[in-house]
Amino acid sequence: MNAEPTWIFDFDSTLVATEALDELAEIALADDPGREARLARIRDITAMGMDGRMGIERSLSERLAMLSLRASLLPPLVDRLASRFAPSVWSGRARLAAMSHRVWVVSGGFHEWIEPVIERLGLRPAHVIANRLRPAAGGLLELDPAASPCAVDSGKATAIEAAGLGRPRIMVGDGMTDWRVRELGACERFVCFTEVVHRAPVAAKADVVAASLDAVLGAA
Ligand SMILES: [Mg+2]
Repeated sequence: MNAEPTWIFDFDSTLVATEALDELAEIALADDPGREARLARIRDITAMGMDGRMGIERSLSERLAMLSLRASLLPPLVDRLASRFAPSVWSGRARLAAMSHRVWVVSGGFHEWIEPVIERLGLRPAHVIANRLRPAAGGLLELDPAASPCAVDSGKATAIEAAGLGRPRIMVGDGMTDWRVRELGACERFVCFTEVVHRAPVAAKADVVAASLDAVLGAA
């Protein structure tokens, strides 16, 4: 590409080698006697969200409610996520930091943990587009629908366009929601990142398949 591209990274299973909600479940349910039943229910809700039987926003909200999410869980979650960066992302963090002015993170997760985690890579909290939490009854936190652009179908593409990020744009991620950004024309190129998880249906659609950060950055 001629012009310097804007890089847009997914978070879960891309920058970090795990899914934040899975890590949150480990922390939230550590001492819960009904842990296995709750985890099974959360897996069901996740599956319903992924195959379209339940809207993304409701799927996210129900999982957060199952976890009784409260503010005290956020610091340990941030520490866990920051200890689980994808290996090549962590080893290549100086490269990422040096280009942080044109690196964005777009995620169906939440600002509340993504911002402090990506800061440890030298990336900019102000360059995160994701969902937000709000206080709810009983000291719990819940999804704030008015501030959660990525909690709707095709939300990533819509949010990227609304932010007016510079073109050309290269989207890097592991999942179908990342591919959708390319399909809807909100980026010029889609790099399927496979270091953490290799999803064959996503890789089949990608312009480039990359198993490391070096391979990703070589796709420009
Ligand atoms: Mg992902």
